[in-house]
Amino acid sequence: MSGVRVALVTGGNKGIGLAIVRALCKQFHGDVYLTARNPQLGEEAVQDLKKEGLSPLFHQLDINDQKSIQCLRDFLKDKYGGLDVLINNAGIAFKVKDDTPFGTQAEVTLKTNFFATLDACHELLPLIKPHGRVVNVSSMVSPRALAQCSQEFQERFRSDTITEEELVKLMEQFVEDAKNGVHQKKGWANTAYGMSKIGVTVLSRIQARMLKETRKGDGIILNACCPGWVRTDMAGPNATKSPDEGAVTPVYLALLPESVDSPYGELVSEKKVQPW
Ligand code: NDP
Repeated sequence: MSGVRVALVTGGNKGIGLAIVRALCKQFHGDVYLTARNPQLGEEAVQDLKKEGLSPLFHQLDINDQKSIQCLRDFLKDKYGGLDVLINNAGIAFKVKDDTPFGTQAEVTLKTNFFATLDACHELLPLIKPHGRVVNVSSMVSPRALAQCSQEFQERFRSDTITEEELVKLMEQFVEDAKNGVHQKKGWANTAYGMSKIGVTVLSRIQARMLKETRKGDGIILNACCPGWVRTDMAGPNATKSPDEGAVTPVYLALLPESVDSPYGELVSEKKVQPW
């Protein structure tokens, strides 16, 4: 087992994920893994970064595939005895003009952005080494969607005692209500992507709380973040930031020095803690 430090980015073959890998290759002392669900796209991205003089490594990861997650987990355990930096960046969004029924959009979007991110965390968080850093890429869309939810849901999503099981039930209920065409009547926001990112932000708050309880003294820091509005396949060419600019806040959180203990369990945008 090597004593080398290791960082890993999900959805690293393009967009913000690729820019995060690029920045980590320049700033992180250790091995940096670009992961992608499609090995060909992942290897091509690695080759592109090599042409820039950088040295990322590749491992396949489809967060929607439990076997793929477990294969990566076992690899990291065997080769590195754990993981120092995890950036959960992989995500999807339907285009605004997409006419797929809202219920299907809700199911598909939540499946990747919330449930698959949760699955990946279940396998990879136990690997995080002392002083490790975990960054969940959420969005400022999440507080905006939260404001659209009923008072009752807002209170539950803001609760400091909500459990992962309760959050999963809420996300499942949103999908069911969306499929039945009653999500707005029931008090959910009318945005599948926004609801999925509420899930990521609240999950991060829960995970940070749990880490404090179960890994007390290990100095691990976990936060959610928003990269800003970034020119990628997801957000389109009119967005204000380049992917490298979008990587700044996630990378700042991934490289928080050992000497600091905050931000912790927050939603961070432009390197600043955002109200929830
Ligand atoms: P892109 O669509 O450019 O990239 C998304 C990445 O996620 C791709 O590498 C994609 O792989 C990967 N991915 C999707 N599903 C899976 C999966 N099941 N397993 C592994 N990888 C997967 O989007 P962005 O770079 O813009 O977005 C990155 C993150 O930032 C997302 O979480 C997004 O929600 C968030 N975000 C983006 C904003 C923006 O303005 N762009 C604003 C706020 C948040 P593949 O190429 O195979 O599809």
